[in-house]
Amino acid sequence: MLRGRGVSPGRAVAPVRHLAPALPEPDPTEVIPTAERAAEASAIEWASVAVADQLRSRTVQATGETRAILDASRLLASDPELVSEATALVRSKGRSAARAVWETAGAHERGLTALGGRMAERAADIRDVRDRIIAEILQVDLPGLPESDEPFVLVATDLAPADTAALEGGACVALVTEQGGPTSHTAIIARSLGLPAVVGAIGASGIDDAAMLLVDGDRGTVEVDPPESRIAEARADAVVVPFDGVGELADGHRVPLLANVGGAADAETAAAAGAEGVGLFRTEFCFLDRVDAPTVDEQVAAYRGVLAAFAGRKVVVRTLDAGSDKPLPFANSDAEDNPALGVRGLRIARRSPQLLDDQLRALALAAAAESAQVEVMAPMVATVEEAGDFAARAHAAGIDRVGIMIETPSAALLAAELFEIVDFVSLGTNDLAQYTLAADRLLSELGDLNDPWQPAVLRLIGMVGEAGRAARKPVGVCGEAGGDPALAPVLVGLGVTTVSMTSRSLGRVAAALRTASMEECVAAARAACGAATAHEARDAASAVLLDGHPA
Ligand code: PEP
Ligand code: MG
Repeated sequence: MLRGRGVSPGRAVAPVRHLAPALPEPDPTEVIPTAERAAEASAIEWASVAVADQLRSRTVQATGETRAILDASRLLASDPELVSEATALVRSKGRSAARAVWETAGAHERGLTALGGRMAERAADIRDVRDRIIAEILQVDLPGLPESDEPFVLVATDLAPADTAALEGGACVALVTEQGGPTSHTAIIARSLGLPAVVGAIGASGIDDAAMLLVDGDRGTVEVDPPESRIAEARADAVVVPFDGVGELADGHRVPLLANVGGAADAETAAAAGAEGVGLFRTEFCFLDRVDAPTVDEQVAAYRGVLAAFAGRKVVVRTLDAGSDKPLPFANSDAEDNPALGVRGLRIARRSPQLLDDQLRALALAAAAESAQVEVMAPMVATVEEAGDFAARAHAAGIDRVGIMIETPSAALLAAELFEIVDFVSLGTNDLAQYTLAADRLLSELGDLNDPWQPAVLRLIGMVGEAGRAARKPVGVCGEAGGDPALAPVLVGLGVTTVSMTSRSLGRVAAALRTASMEECVAAARAACGAATAHEARDAASAVLLDGHPA
């Protein structure tokens, strides 16, 4: 049994598949003796035929977009130019087969990148085909996500956001990583896909290839080769609590329950799950794999996909929150020593104001074309000037309702002044905890500090709630705290007016809110805020909510 941190709830059981590591660059100094070059060159020809065959058989089984992608890769794999240039390198210079494919693909990739635009995006396809051919030549596993139609538990040291996003609709049933924290984007995407996940499971990379794993995302455990009875149990309880579409307290006080989404597919799932609107649309998730900034037209299309799923209802869109654990190549070019404290979120507009203005224009155009009630907010605001500048730009672009996220202690402390500028705020409790406790949210070792139950975080939330009440303006929560059924009544008691979460949590949070009146929520909030530790805050709140009296 391995122990880590459960970051996405539920249990799943399936055989393990390891994320294969990136291929190392083949040795440039190796020289193949002349007599062996013909055989070495033919390895490239064989490998490209084998790869094209594998892709052909996968194409037959695939549908829609996946089919088109596989078909394009198959054509690249058997591209006569790629193969003949690589074999020529072996024959003339004595490069190894793998090295020759590496160099030839590199030259093609540079050519495409130089052309820019759509052609530049093909560079990733070239790298994919390069890796497939080299893996075939060397007879090693293909790097990246396993290609499997059978259910599997994915085990990795860590996952890049793009890897995790590519899991949608696949056969992966759970995630286990050695690194990563509870609010890393791996964890967030796992929750939105409804995949149980455990991070910080030290030793997971060493699990035997033939093992069966039972992942428990609530308890943070990974059982290797569990007994049959445990497997049967786990299969029985993969159930989501349904939501009837109305968030309210026991006394009928309305608390709209909204969804966090990253794109159109997510939004459709959220609408089907009964979400009353979208409380956080993470727009950067639409462009994680982009090398160049998306055009205004491309952005309008991506945003309309989300707005269309919530016709007539509220959709809170967040402008690009690039940087830190989700760098976007077109927005964050420099390496920084402390990226979480660096030029991320709204701060990118200091360097690239046009990127923000284009996005605001695209959002105004998308809003005009759809009937959803669009509200736009900025991430990582720390000062009143930043909020003022953002609001002015958003209004100039034609956005009516403008807000900010409260993710820094500075913004929480300045909430009253910020409410003079914006129409609403939304608490990003993931970052608020990270910055209040000064603990990197990606480090599983510090997971206990990245906890919204920490009294310092609760007290800051309470200050924001108080300022919202005084200004008579809405205070949302869109961090992962919003999806915790035990915490949601406390947040409402602290003055939070809407709660946004991954759509799979809606039913459980709705059920928890229906058990408490506003008076009880306020009492629970007071008890939790008065506690000295996160542990005591949890106990104090549940003593009020479950037992009806303070601990
Ligand atoms: C947050 O910080 O709580 C938040 C909702 O934003 P993200 O998780 O995308 O940083
Ligand atoms: Mg954040």
